[in-house]
Amino acid sequence: MNRVVMIKYGELTTKKGNRKFFVNTLYSNIKNKLKGLNVRIHKDISRMYIEFSDSELDEVLSRINNIFGIHEYVVAYKVDTDLEGIKSNVLDIMKNIKFSTFKVETKRSDKSFPVPSLDFSRQLGGLILKNIEGVKVDVHNPEILLNVEIREFFTYIYTNEYKGLGGYPNGTLGNGILMLSGGIDSPVAGYLTLKRGVKLDCIYFEAIPHTSIEARNKVITLAKKLAKYTSEIKLHVVPFTEIQEAIYREAEDDYCITIMRRMMYRITEEVAKRNKCMVIANGESIGQVASQTLTSMSVINEVTNMPVIRPVACLDKLEIIDIAKRIDTYETSILPFEDCCTVFVPKHPVINPKLNLCYEYENRFDYKNMIIDAVNNINTIIIKDEKDNSFEDIL
Ligand code: ATP
Ligand code: MG
Repeated sequence: MNRVVMIKYGELTTKKGNRKFFVNTLYSNIKNKLKGLNVRIHKDISRMYIEFSDSELDEVLSRINNIFGIHEYVVAYKVDTDLEGIKSNVLDIMKNIKFSTFKVETKRSDKSFPVPSLDFSRQLGGLILKNIEGVKVDVHNPEILLNVEIREFFTYIYTNEYKGLGGYPNGTLGNGILMLSGGIDSPVAGYLTLKRGVKLDCIYFEAIPHTSIEARNKVITLAKKLAKYTSEIKLHVVPFTEIQEAIYREAEDDYCITIMRRMMYRITEEVAKRNKCMVIANGESIGQVASQTLTSMSVINEVTNMPVIRPVACLDKLEIIDIAKRIDTYETSILPFEDCCTVFVPKHPVINPKLNLCYEYENRFDYKNMIIDAVNNINTIIIKDEKDNSFEDIL
């Protein structure tokens, strides 16, 4: 008997007008992620089917588990839609499983099949009771729920359903840019944004020699971990040293972080526009540090009109850490390399910054030209999924 992985679209089906686009995108994302494996993929309006070689099932499932837009999947036996054939296959399958209670559920999408669903479930139940000793039907809490989905040419038989990652297929909601630092929060923010179907570029500010190449490599590793959930990621590395040094020369100590973050937002917006990204995402979390009080956030946000998505804004640090562990970014994030935010941290960053003081300090240096310079000297690295064997390209 052949087995297939059968994918159920779940939430996608509520997107009436866009459904075809969502399904087609999911299809090409799956195809892309299963590259290099011996699989055949096809789809119809309610399901996608992946035929695989038995020896590669584990690998297929481990990749499927990282694809957004898959809500549920099963590993099903695929048999011809033929009444007697289905019965004998069901019996073979059930004889190979250890169980004491069961229930049969039949779905008949092909109405030309001669037996109605309920009757067929009863017939199959009777057959199992007659041929397998010591088992009973339990319609409320069965140990084994045997599903039989009858379609025009083939019938799919399965007992276990698995939860997928959920969310929307990557790319279906457009492009955004993630401010990715080496910390715990921003990779989690990236993951949650990707989950909503937003494809991401990443931007990282470095201030060499105040920050190290190790700090950059850490960000590359984090981007690679995020790439597992999307295709490739463009990581824009911004040379930030000149601007940062100017800030620390010209602004009062307590305003340095506020001004620095205003500069980061300005640059991020410019890079977003050049790369056709519609939104900025970052790892800000309300109240976590001085620059994340509501006053700080609004003074910092003042420099951009682009929507800013803050997926972890309302999560506690422990909740963020839980997700970071689950998506395997935590261990990398806690490596001890200095970030450009931490190198220059003043003793008492302002928690209620005033806009007019920001203007005053910013006007003490030619930040506009420095920003243009920084953007023109960005180093963009193409980050590939770990499963992709081709080398990283430097654009
Ligand atoms: P994280 O744990 O993600 O570093 P954090 O709690 O340390 O966050 P901040 O350093 O204030 O917070 O930064 C808030 C957000 O600003 C980060 O989550 C990230 O999105 C962005 N950010 C901070 N530093 C950088 C950087 N060097 N490059 C790119 N983005 C940055
Ligand atoms: Mg940080």
